[in-house]
Amino acid sequence: RSALSLGRKMSDEYHRLSIFFFPFLTHSHMIPTVNMAKLFAEKGVKATIITTPLNKPFISKAIGKSKTNGKNINIQTIEFPYAEAGLPDGCENIDSIPSPDLFEPFCMATSLLQEPLEQLLEKQSPNCIVADVFFPWATDSAAKFGIPRLVFHGTGFFSLCAITCMTLYEPCNDVSSDYESFLIPNLPCEIKMTRMQLPPFVKSKEKTGLAKLLEEAKESDLRSYGVVVNSVYELEKVYADHFRKVLGRKAWHIGPLSLCNKGREEKERIVKEAYMDEHECLKWLDTKKPKSVVYVCFGSVVNLTDSELREIAMGLEASGQQFIWVVRKSGNDGEEWLPDGFEKRMEGKGLIIRGWATQVLILEHQAVGAFVTHCGWNSTLEAVTAGVPMVTWPIDAEQFFNEKLLIEVLKIGVPVGAVKWVRLEGDNVTLDAVEKAVKRIMAGEETIEMRNRTKLLSHLAKKAMEEGGSSYTDLDALVEELSSLSH
Ligand code: UDP
Repeated sequence: RSALSLGRKMSDEYHRLSIFFFPFLTHSHMIPTVNMAKLFAEKGVKATIITTPLNKPFISKAIGKSKTNGKNINIQTIEFPYAEAGLPDGCENIDSIPSPDLFEPFCMATSLLQEPLEQLLEKQSPNCIVADVFFPWATDSAAKFGIPRLVFHGTGFFSLCAITCMTLYEPCNDVSSDYESFLIPNLPCEIKMTRMQLPPFVKSKEKTGLAKLLEEAKESDLRSYGVVVNSVYELEKVYADHFRKVLGRKAWHIGPLSLCNKGREEKERIVKEAYMDEHECLKWLDTKKPKSVVYVCFGSVVNLTDSELREIAMGLEASGQQFIWVVRKSGNDGEEWLPDGFEKRMEGKGLIIRGWATQVLILEHQAVGAFVTHCGWNSTLEAVTAGVPMVTWPIDAEQFFNEKLLIEVLKIGVPVGAVKWVRLEGDNVTLDAVEKAVKRIMAGEETIEMRNRTKLLSHLAKKAMEEGGSSYTDLDALVEELSSLSH
């Protein structure tokens, strides 16, 4: 059979596939999930993104013209009874929780979405559901309707392996202090951690709240059909193999998902509105020399304290480097976090974006030479894809694992020296540490080598998504397998 007729046959078969995509209610899970849905839709699959009413506008914006361009991509909303869960009015996204204390109640309350999801499964009979790791009950929901459930963790293979081995062997119980390092057993490389770098609920013997949710997630993950990973085989080869062959998990690597957005207009549409006119910010970058600006951003949920923000400001100033710094503050939050006269002194040299930046476009700009990041997986992968080395400043979640990958395995980063996992607020880091790390990444002895290594990885990441590339092929394999299951 000719390649053309084979292609047509595959596309016809895929056309019959209908898949639900159900991201956790936070931007960093919604962004890659929408991108994933777009990729599946490009293969002819009917993609339906499930979300709650207040999150729908973000998702519609990110889908943009995909639908009108002939792709079968839809949104279905289900009600999140946040009031019943005791959450503040309109609280449907991690982004809108008023304090870190509500993080856990918010996560727990999302189990209320099970019933409305099942009603939708009954009504629409999809062939598969790709549901977030934070919805452990989704495996049972899928089973009720006899369809496979795939898990989306939102992180890469290195962290998936490290977390799996941490939960299997619990090496953190073998040390006598929070500062003593322990080796994570059964990983391909020697990776050491301390208890300080782990969330409190992982260390506690009592499995309640989030610890219980994660136990359930682990168990449901093992019963699921497999795992879809936003990563590139060539980036974490050893760990991708380890996850499948040694830890025995079925997984598909289909990233970097951010590359599904092609032109500038599509990239600008990423989920939230930009606070500052992005054209202004890009125009500012246009005036700068190649690789002469540091981009500083801590993702979509981290809220650093005023004193931490002041240390960053002073550290950036002392580094003498030009910068774009995204601060999750609005004009109404007051300016106590800014050192006196800072913006005036930094005029032309540094730009502060209050709110939301079009990160992918900034990272891709030739004037950007380094990225100070909290090591959220999306940010990490976006920087690798853009070929930008990083100053690593993990805060919470699995970010300390991602830092290990960047520093010890890929060797494309400089650590700022954060030692402690602190939910959403982060560990205190001094201005000296910021200054030193920024100088080292921009103009240190290893700068050129790190840039070359990142450039190579960027090339491999882009190739992976092209026709015949590793991610492209793995996505095809996944769609074909799901298609054969649905017959
Ligand atoms: N992001 C963005 N602009 C911002 C802040 C974040 O576009 O001002 C995007 C970023 O590109 C990434 C996501 O939000 O895709 C953040 O995800 P990540 O996993 O890095 O961190 P999290 O938000 O989970 O802490």
